[in-house]
Amino acid sequence: MVKIRTRFAPSPTGTLHIGNLRTALLSWLWARHNGGEFVLRIEDTDKKREVEGGVEIIKKTLKEFGLVADEGPGLSGDKGPYLQSERLGIYEKYVKKLLEAGDAYRCFCSAERLEEMRKDQQKEGKIPRYDRKCLQLSEEEIEERLKRGEKTVVRLKMPDKEDLFWDDMVMGKVKINSAEVDDTVLLKSDGYPTYHMAVVVDDHLMEISHIFRDVRWMSSTPKHIVLYRALGWEMPKIVHLPLVLGADRKPLSKRHGSVAADEFLKEGYLPEAVLNYLALVGWNPKTDEELFSLKQLVEKFDIEGIQKSGGVFDYKKLLHVNAWHISQKTDEELSEILGKWVPKLKEEARLGLASLLKVRVKKLSELPGLLKFFWEGVNLSSELLLQKGGEKEVVKTMLEEIRKVVEERGVDEVEKMKEEFMKIIEKNEWKVGKFFMVLRLVICGSSITPPIVESLPYLGKEKVLKRIEKGLEQLG
Ligand code: GLU
Repeated sequence: MVKIRTRFAPSPTGTLHIGNLRTALLSWLWARHNGGEFVLRIEDTDKKREVEGGVEIIKKTLKEFGLVADEGPGLSGDKGPYLQSERLGIYEKYVKKLLEAGDAYRCFCSAERLEEMRKDQQKEGKIPRYDRKCLQLSEEEIEERLKRGEKTVVRLKMPDKEDLFWDDMVMGKVKINSAEVDDTVLLKSDGYPTYHMAVVVDDHLMEISHIFRDVRWMSSTPKHIVLYRALGWEMPKIVHLPLVLGADRKPLSKRHGSVAADEFLKEGYLPEAVLNYLALVGWNPKTDEELFSLKQLVEKFDIEGIQKSGGVFDYKKLLHVNAWHISQKTDEELSEILGKWVPKLKEEARLGLASLLKVRVKKLSELPGLLKFFWEGVNLSSELLLQKGGEKEVVKTMLEEIRKVVEERGVDEVEKMKEEFMKIIEKNEWKVGKFFMVLRLVICGSSITPPIVESLPYLGKEKVLKRIEKGLEQLG
């Protein structure tokens, strides 16, 4: 049986787009589902588009999401190097082979000539493609021009008119006639291969069994078919993924919202929630369930469930999935997360409040706002207090009664405090909601807080009393 080996082959051009992260995820899932291997290969053959630190950004992002590669730059693996810029000699060898067999040819045409040719073809309503002027050059002429040091590229010689087929595991049987495909450049004048040359050589030498990439690369496949054939290699299975779209069904871009994978983490989404949701954009798990751990995704994932048409990325749904993943955390796990988001909150409070917070918070970025009353003073407006609490005299009495309870009992026994508060509410015939709202506002300065009585022990008797006092002062 063929060993399942998949790869993720990004170019180091900056932050990872969420659509690229989905490509990585599905490729990773297929490898893990089959007990196979997942390779990270960096396609850095276009030096103009590369950004400094680009490789590190990719590695860091994959690590943050837990999509660890088995092989890749800086990782183990015996099929490296895994940076294409370190493989130039390998490509050269195969380009030479193609030239010798007549499957590729040298082209000396200048950029100006190619531009003119393109314009003329467009004027005539033809699809722009190289007119094969250099295919006619004699060997002697080529030798001479090379000796003169003329700039040259190497082009693939496509068959003239041939239907090229492949069995796409998502898109089905695809047919493209070679007449529609240009004689693509394989080796640039700077000695770097193009994507087409490098991807074919590397996928073969790295023994990739399944190529996952987005559908935008479909039109490259006929070129690759011709290259695999010329080199006498078997082509891996092709899995073209549908695009990730915005609500308007256009490719997801900044116009729709965040698109950089690491931005989602900064905004308070859990990595496993983003992966859970991303898997569903374009893949159907064939159940009504939508909430999966990464482990469950590994078990369930299959290529058959990948859809042909683009999947809409719904930010609201992601939020819902995120809330669920937060709720699944153990108190210890959430407490550790709280340590990152609200480092000023004492460890005891983190652990104590974890179970209460996890069912309330949809995004981790809500935490600092929600909890800052623990370490920051509150800025309470008396208007808001009266608006939510009712008549001034009533609010004042409420606060005085609360003060009495706190002074007598302290704040550590939550259940006892609640009982006392309920007794007071009943005796005075107050509305429960209003009473606790007054307490909430005075203690936290906001109407959105964690469960209020449960929070008091972590604030401590002294601070609680001070805030009640301040509330009373403000009412005059
Ligand atoms: N280097 C290509 C990219 O940046 C990868 C295409 C492929 O996976 O074949 O998306």
